[in-house]
Amino acid sequence: MKEYAKQIHRCFRCGYCKFPSDYSDFNCPSYARFRFDTYSTSGRLWLIYAWLKGEIEWSEHLADILYTCTTCKNCVEQCPMKFADDIVDWIVAARSDMIEKEKGRIPPAVTSFLEDVYRLGNPLKEMGKRDTWANGIKRYQPGDEYLFYVGCLGSYDEFGQRMAKSIASLLSETGVSFGILGNEENCCGNEVYLLGENELFQVLAERNIQKFKELGVKKVVTLSPHAYNIVKNNYPQFGAIFEVYHYTQLLHSLIKKSEVKLGEMKAKVTYHDPCFLGRYNGIYDVPREILQSIPGVELIEMERSRENSFCCGGGSGNFVMDLLRGSEDSPARIRVKEAYETGADILAVACPSCMTMLQDAIKVEDLEGKLAIKDISQIVTESS
Ligand code: SF4
Ligand code: SF4
Repeated sequence: MKEYAKQIHRCFRCGYCKFPSDYSDFNCPSYARFRFDTYSTSGRLWLIYAWLKGEIEWSEHLADILYTCTTCKNCVEQCPMKFADDIVDWIVAARSDMIEKEKGRIPPAVTSFLEDVYRLGNPLKEMGKRDTWANGIKRYQPGDEYLFYVGCLGSYDEFGQRMAKSIASLLSETGVSFGILGNEENCCGNEVYLLGENELFQVLAERNIQKFKELGVKKVVTLSPHAYNIVKNNYPQFGAIFEVYHYTQLLHSLIKKSEVKLGEMKAKVTYHDPCFLGRYNGIYDVPREILQSIPGVELIEMERSRENSFCCGGGSGNFVMDLLRGSEDSPARIRVKEAYETGADILAVACPSCMTMLQDAIKVEDLEGKLAIKDISQIVTESS
């Protein structure tokens, strides 16, 4: 963080980073929720700077402000300054400093998240096996082409499990050789890393890499964009040399080779870009091309899409911790209303975190029966 402190004051609080590129609405989810500058990038950076210089003391409020950033990278996308690419790294580094310097004085929900990952291998307080959903899906065997990395939500969450089953069924039907790790799978550590717990992240990454290597894994396909992001971009520093795909990429190539048969499906569909697929990894076209390849599907864009997509509020562990707390300004509630206003029948997602956040919001907004939320593999399955 010391190195960053030399640059962090260069933010001059213009505030461009809280908007999408056309300034049509607030696009920083924590600012949209709380409407105080302290919960936007500029506020956070200035508070971090003041805290590093000893001008302000640690407080519960400061810790809350630091951890309500969902690390969605809208600010990275919109800030016109040269340092823009580093903004989320600064916030993550400040969190690490808070864990170290303040001896773990971080919001209790964050402590609990990290302890659960450490003790149970998942942040969902689940003690059971990771593969109760996987009826008949086989374990990865050396020689299989792909390891299907399911992740914590895919293993335990009701909606995540449905996504995992749907993807596994499609892969099985097309004859792709793949397997899962079942109970030998560990949390990927994406959120642990973003919450600033570097030591725990390293343990998780090394454990997963060792397991993948023992089994001779060469290609990993992930259910979650969060796992895709961390395995692809951060695991290599610990010696990982795997090819990494998000499931939409594999599905896209199978459709192109006509190995997945698509039938007709008359529906208006809008697509919510997950931050870890879109802004983190530049994957915007692949999910859209899958949807557009289904005869009868009309793809309608929300006003905020692609680089300007509005985060569902679930990033950086908030899908469990809920530091943004429920309100009619909750990002997920704003997002489902935006999706409904397009006239779409289906809100398509490609991430289990978005799925759980948006499913909750649909209920609260009384949109059940009016707007269905489905992941891309489920839409493909229904069409075929
Ligand atoms: S981070 Fe960039 S866009 Fe945001 S307030 Fe600072 S200088 Fe302006
Ligand atoms: S990463 Fe997202 S939530 Fe965090 S400050 Fe930037 S725009 Fe706001």
